[in-house]
Amino acid sequence: MADIIQLLPDHVANQIAAGEVVQRPASVVKELLENAIDAGATHIQLIVKDAGKTLIQVVDNGKGMSETDARLSFSRHATSKIRAAEDLFQLDTKGFRGEALASIGAIAHVEMNTSDNDDMVGTQIRMEGGKLVSQEVTATKRGTSMQVKNLFFNIPARRNFLKSNAVELRHIIDEFHRVVLAHPAIAFDFYNNGSELFKLPTANIRQRIVHVFGNKTNERLVPVSEETGVVNISGFVFKPEFSKKTRGEQFFFVNDRFIKSSYLHHAVGAAFEGLIKEQTHPGYFLFLEVDPSKLDINIHPTKTEIKFDDEHTIYAIIRSAVKHSLGQFNVAPVLDFDRDANLDTPYQYNKMSTATTPTIEVDSSFNPFEDEPKVTGNASSSSSGGSSSYSGGGASGHAYPKRERSGSWESLYVGLDEEKESFSSIEVESEQVTGSLFEEDSESASTTTYQLHKKYIVTTIKSGLVIIDQRRAHQRVLYEEFLKNMTVQSGASQQLLFPIKLSLNPTEMSLLLELQQSLESTGFVFSALDGEAVEISGVPVNVSEGDAAVVLDQLLSDLQEELPEHAFSQSDMLARTLCKSLAVRSGEYLNQASMQALVNNLFATKQPDISPFNKPTYITMTVDEIDKRFL
Ligand code: ADP
Ligand code: MG
Repeated sequence: MADIIQLLPDHVANQIAAGEVVQRPASVVKELLENAIDAGATHIQLIVKDAGKTLIQVVDNGKGMSETDARLSFSRHATSKIRAAEDLFQLDTKGFRGEALASIGAIAHVEMNTSDNDDMVGTQIRMEGGKLVSQEVTATKRGTSMQVKNLFFNIPARRNFLKSNAVELRHIIDEFHRVVLAHPAIAFDFYNNGSELFKLPTANIRQRIVHVFGNKTNERLVPVSEETGVVNISGFVFKPEFSKKTRGEQFFFVNDRFIKSSYLHHAVGAAFEGLIKEQTHPGYFLFLEVDPSKLDINIHPTKTEIKFDDEHTIYAIIRSAVKHSLGQFNVAPVLDFDRDANLDTPYQYNKMSTATTPTIEVDSSFNPFEDEPKVTGNASSSSSGGSSSYSGGGASGHAYPKRERSGSWESLYVGLDEEKESFSSIEVESEQVTGSLFEEDSESASTTTYQLHKKYIVTTIKSGLVIIDQRRAHQRVLYEEFLKNMTVQSGASQQLLFPIKLSLNPTEMSLLLELQQSLESTGFVFSALDGEAVEISGVPVNVSEGDAAVVLDQLLSDLQEELPEHAFSQSDMLARTLCKSLAVRSGEYLNQASMQALVNNLFATKQPDISPFNKPTYITMTVDEIDKRFL
């Protein structure tokens, strides 16, 4: 048989290998920024168009390249940064594989202008799909400018796989954050579609964090600093009260390189234990310095994972350093340090996780002028007890127009009272919902709902019992409401007497601009949007004035987190985020009228059985099932 094995031509090999280095525009941004840093630049400009799909340009004032180096830089394994395998263990540069330019050159139109002298003499190189198109002498100042156009022009599958501009820009901003936080001494500018997103002057790390994440960040930071033989730690954590539900600002840098490590993340979490609510995450910017020979950076092509020789020790040091800072800055009790044995936890409490934070309960339905005594729906008192027919204090109790609906759940709802009221602080729009869920029945007047553990609504139905998760049910109701408002562009708005001013960081601002139209269709009115702040002069009717700022803040931080694979349409994302922050929570007391309104509204939605997050909203138990349990 004839020999059939061939070596792939370089440009094919490069194109295949490119997949590993370049997943999306953000990967190109990362590689180009890192090259500029490795070249010793003190000022770096990043310019992107259409979230990098059309153009990514990085201009630096670094050392530039000679003519030969310029040509060679696009070859695979062409690097000036290591010469022998040993060098891998003494790395002080970002790059070392010599793959980035070869990969980028293989899948885009690239133009490089570079000069290594002050005589305005330089080299221009143009590459297309891995092939050299031209090489010319050009007039350019010291430094390098790389223009990457039409990314993935020759790999349509890849190009089609890219997400919306908003999502891709988000990835670029993430990479940008990681690079600029590690290098506060370098000045950076970032332009997207001609408008300036970031202008970061040379700074110290604290200033850099504030420049990137906005002025409000400054007061939230607690410094962390620890020097040991194994590792030096410096940086900041956010005060516990600023921990977020979503993963917010969490950065680890090892020797100025951003890394991801769930293990070390856990160490920070452990230091915050007991200080923050469950399921919230502390924010941090922690810089670790470790002897490079004690690291293996070479385990992942995009180099965000790292292996330490001494991981356990580093874990312990991080935890105690963060704990110590929180203590020193009076944000945590200092019992751990120089502790008095008398203050030790008595043995019976040793095994308990953390003390429960005392909470203040306010019965929002209490009305001192009301004649009738109120039923306070305390978790324990709402168990099985009396079937009193509490009528929902002053509820108007108007009936819905009747509508025939087929389906399984409606038939369950025979014999329930009809009432519609606002509940909690959140107004449920009393639009004429079609369909009577509860057939008028003489017995109906006596139906009562119970709140179980301030979490579930229990009510009876013809065939037995239904238990509704109050939060999920409300999410479903709000979700459909928002979605409808956005689709028909009819979100009712309530004018605020005093507009609320919110200061936003550049990332949030760009996100807000992107979402402005959809937000306005839910009922938000923005009267002024400038570089740093936004003025809200109207909010959707189901958002209370006091909540507006919080809701918007939460919205922006959530949407920053939203991973592309979860990104359905923009409206869907928005509706889901809004309903998440607005829905009643477990632990909130609901009065009779609110519960009934919620039950009614839930079963008037299109999909009452699941929450917008695909979780069941209610369960039923038939009398048969109950009978069986008594056997
Ligand atoms: P690596 O960074 O891993 O060495 P790259 O493919 O990113 O590989 O770059 C190849 C080489 O090109 C680098 O080693 C460097 O010598 C040179 N180079 C790339 N970008 C720049 C730049 N902005 N300024 C100066 N030299 C550069
Ligand atoms: Mg590189």
